[in-house]
Amino acid sequence: MHLRQLFLAHVAQTSDFPLALDIVKAEGMYLHDREGNQYLDLISGIAVSNVGHRHPKVVEAIKNQVDLYLHTLVYGEFIQSPQVQLAHALAATLAPFPTPTGDLLDQVYFTNSGTEAVEGAMKLAKRFTHKTEIVSCEKSYHGSTQGALSLGEEEFRRPFRPLLPGIRKIRRNDFSTLGAINQNTAAVIIEPIGGEMGAVPTENTFLRAVSDRCQEVGALLIFDEIQSGFGRTGTFWAFESTGVVPDLLLTAKGMGGGMPIGAFIAPERIMSVLKNQPVLGHITTFGGHPVSCAASLATLETIFHENLLASVAHKEALFRKHLQHPLIREVRGRGIQLALVLDQFTQLKAVIDESLQQGVLTDWFLYCDYALRIAPPLIISDQEIIQACSVIVQAIEKHAHLAYS
Ligand code: PMP
Repeated sequence: MHLRQLFLAHVAQTSDFPLALDIVKAEGMYLHDREGNQYLDLISGIAVSNVGHRHPKVVEAIKNQVDLYLHTLVYGEFIQSPQVQLAHALAATLAPFPTPTGDLLDQVYFTNSGTEAVEGAMKLAKRFTHKTEIVSCEKSYHGSTQGALSLGEEEFRRPFRPLLPGIRKIRRNDFSTLGAINQNTAAVIIEPIGGEMGAVPTENTFLRAVSDRCQEVGALLIFDEIQSGFGRTGTFWAFESTGVVPDLLLTAKGMGGGMPIGAFIAPERIMSVLKNQPVLGHITTFGGHPVSCAASLATLETIFHENLLASVAHKEALFRKHLQHPLIREVRGRGIQLALVLDQFTQLKAVIDESLQQGVLTDWFLYCDYALRIAPPLIISDQEIIQACSVIVQAIEKHAHLAYS
């Protein structure tokens, strides 16, 4: 059977319309398929390949670690150099930013994925505060496991109930909803940029108000930087430019440079409660796999050594400049976590399909099906930005009849 048929027959599907590109190689900014076509990657699969595909330093770190050891024992038992060095490096990025209580985000609990980081953080917040409710934003996506799913949108929760009780919602940038944060709140989880609602920045004043409210009621503030972290918005962590520091920080996706890894990060004062009552109350076999940690450390170092943060604002400006068009309603977001807002799904789908045919890979958002996702590797060149914008604008013009007017 052809590979495509085997894919459809045996690899569990998540929709009836998989992209089904047959990728044989990915390098730097480009994906290559079996027919010899190349695609400029505007989504980094998704918000993962921040340093580009197969960055030589990442590949080298992986190969070096493979030659030493793979899995040895469950997380937290052995001193594994890649884990320790990565935790140290992550703590160093956070050292300039004391939390509202004057602590440092200096302890890292490694997971395999973003959703596991969310799960761990929710448990930690409950355990630390002895409270039960969690507050999340409307139209936020924090993962697909049942705890993280409980924080998400009703359409995705309904068929899977019962889920976690005690989840309350606030609306991003709507101060009138902050009453949901009360004395029973263990934690508020929020993204500095609302990823799946279509790259909607959270206003700094709103983050400040949420932080103040958390301190008033004794709740922990969790920033989900699973999409926005590792340089995507032009600072290593998106929160750096907001003036607000969380009590707990979540990372994954771009963290691994293409390898699976995530983490929740907290001050020792908070994290230490996971050690007892019960002992081993949060454990994982593969979390912080040494090969993933080695890849992640190389990713972090590459972001700094190659000075990738410095050009993000310029690249954002270039996208915005070349995406000015009467049929583009808005370019929204921060850094190169952007959304190009159109009118409706059929138009967007036509633009995405057309762009793909012209060699540019884009996507839409889980909760915003009329906006095009722009989250390329940070290494994208000026010329590639201009070329990608030109392809997208031509696709929009070709399908102009699908715009509202
Ligand atoms: N939080 C955010 C903000 C995300 O974008 C995602 C993934 N789209 C997750 C959590 C879940 O991460 P994962 O898919 O690694 O479980």
